[in-house]
Amino acid sequence: MSLCYLNGRYLALEDAQVSPMDRGFLFGDGAYEVIPVYSRRPFRIDEHIARLGNTLAAIRLPDPHGPAEWRTIIGEIIDRNTWEDQSVYLQVTRGADSKRNHAFPDVVRPTVFLMSEALITPSAAVLDAGVAAVSAADFRWLRCDLKSISLLANCLLRQHAVDQGCVETVLFRDGFLTEGSASNIFIVRDGVMLTPPKSHLMLPGITYDVVLELAARHGLAYQVREILEHEVRSADEIWMTSSTKEVLAITALDGRPVGSGRPGPVGRQMYEWYQQFKNTVMRGG
Ligand code: PMP
Repeated sequence: MSLCYLNGRYLALEDAQVSPMDRGFLFGDGAYEVIPVYSRRPFRIDEHIARLGNTLAAIRLPDPHGPAEWRTIIGEIIDRNTWEDQSVYLQVTRGADSKRNHAFPDVVRPTVFLMSEALITPSAAVLDAGVAAVSAADFRWLRCDLKSISLLANCLLRQHAVDQGCVETVLFRDGFLTEGSASNIFIVRDGVMLTPPKSHLMLPGITYDVVLELAARHGLAYQVREILEHEVRSADEIWMTSSTKEVLAITALDGRPVGSGRPGPVGRQMYEWYQQFKNTVMRGG
């Protein structure tokens, strides 16, 4: 059974109820985070809480908890669920109003909801083969840097991949790479790792930051710069990164092999560095 948190109470997920007048339900008006938990320890929790704070500030929704309170609630959710490795989902909406009105309620009572699932990272077989992706035009809004719960465009773009038997959709806007429907994208060309710079056109991934830190720490050549579509299509390697997919090779794009069609050496190395880093952090507290 999955235990969740709703507005100050811990309860069975099936018993949790919110009003249909909640602005999260009516407007997708809210922010969220997904925090990976390894051996019951949340990974990069301060960074997730900081990113939540940025999203809440940008959407003008006062943060209902400070960092210490968030850490306590997240810790409780981890403790009260059974899995060693978890994916903690956290969302804050602008709460319910008495009538449907686009403008904010006079008095906002945010709805705070957290739940947890078993964290399932890619299996050895998937890591070994890599995954297939398709591409699409990035038709999302111009605040993709916010972790907003309004995810209709991302859902449509992910379904576009699933409809074609693929795992992710790689997005291009005006001829440049932005990110995936639910991941950041890295490529490798001639041994150099490349990824787009943070901007309003992509989510600043926590995993993205870790990958850049690991590249710097281990002396891997890399550039953070705008990437042309043709550079992606002729890349030696393409990877997707996210809290649940970690570092996962994309070995086919739009039905054509990426590089050799197998996960490449730089991505394999980055995956290893990422696992080592996770293990050190988890052992060290
Ligand atoms: N971009 C998008 C659109 C996402 O939804 C996500 C997370 N699922 C990411 C990037 C990766 O972010 P993170 O590494 O923090 O999981």
